[in-house]
Amino acid sequence: MHRIKKSFRFQTLFFFLLAGILLSFSAQSVARSNFALVIHGGAGNIAPESLNETQREAYLNKLAEALKVGEEILQSGGTSLDAVETVVNILEDSHLFNAGKGAVFNIEGKNELDASIMCGATHNAGAVAGVTTVRNPITAARKVMENSPHVMLTGRGAETFAYENGAEIVDPGYFFDQRRWDQYREFVRRNRRDRSQAPDTFDQNVKMGTVGAVALDQHGNIAAATSTGGMTGKRYGRIGDSPIIGAGNYASNLSCGVSATGHGEYFIRNMVAYDIAARIKYKGQTLQEASEAVIQGKIDQQGAYGGIIAIDKDGNIVMEFNTTAMFRGFINADGERGAWIFKE
Ligand code: ASP
Repeated sequence: MHRIKKSFRFQTLFFFLLAGILLSFSAQSVARSNFALVIHGGAGNIAPESLNETQREAYLNKLAEALKVGEEILQSGGTSLDAVETVVNILEDSHLFNAGKGAVFNIEGKNELDASIMCGATHNAGAVAGVTTVRNPITAARKVMENSPHVMLTGRGAETFAYENGAEIVDPGYFFDQRRWDQYREFVRRNRRDRSQAPDTFDQNVKMGTVGAVALDQHGNIAAATSTGGMTGKRYGRIGDSPIIGAGNYASNLSCGVSATGHGEYFIRNMVAYDIAARIKYKGQTLQEASEAVIQGKIDQQGAYGGIIAIDKDGNIVMEFNTTAMFRGFINADGERGAWIFKE
């Protein structure tokens, strides 16, 4: 009897101990209400006077709309993956940006779209490249990540996979945008004499408008997403940095999430997004130090242009670029927020 009582007391004690441990665990994850979201709509060297008041307002309003929707998802306990996909969908559906509707034209006068998404908790990733009929390439990239054993699908295969997995398929004409078409015609006119000339000699603002989002959710998980039409006049079949994990996009709960924009070839050669994460992890640099070293150091020294947005595991936000402008904005759990175009 004594023994039973003793073991009963032990069991009760054990139960309360276990309940206490479980409660303290859940209290820890609930108490961690920290969340943050940062977005970009491309970087380039444009003069402030090249955008009139109405145009500035249109860009800033669209960035604010995307941030608001993302904030609602994160505030209500949604995942960083849902936040970045939804936010990028909004920017892809806007003709203002070089992603989805409003994508730039390649050398053949066609739209070829690239996108990638990465989950910082699992290091799982998905990407599509060179798609011409997928309305929201970032959604197709997420489907590659979640519904296939692969990381990247390209061209027709990516489109078939997207269709089979329920992504919206549109006629290529859906992506037509008069402003982008005019930029393409101008590109052709300028390059008519030398068809082999590389597109990077062309005015940077016609390539501007890649979109991206990085989020940290209340569960402590980071996700990053990037979507683009690439560069005006790019060779058919050219794939930029945006769908390449580690170049234009990267996320790891161990370091940070990064979405890049700029001259893709340089961002691929320098593995920009992963380099920033690796500097934090292996070199002990802060997010700010790592981002500056890569963008203002490596990228700038090579004569390339562009920028990144990033969030580290502690919720620090960085928006770094070596151009005159980057469409960008952020929100966080402390109520801080803002959207900007030019250097402040
Ligand atoms: N990084 C994109 C690409 O090279 C273009 C951009 O971000 O402006 O495809």
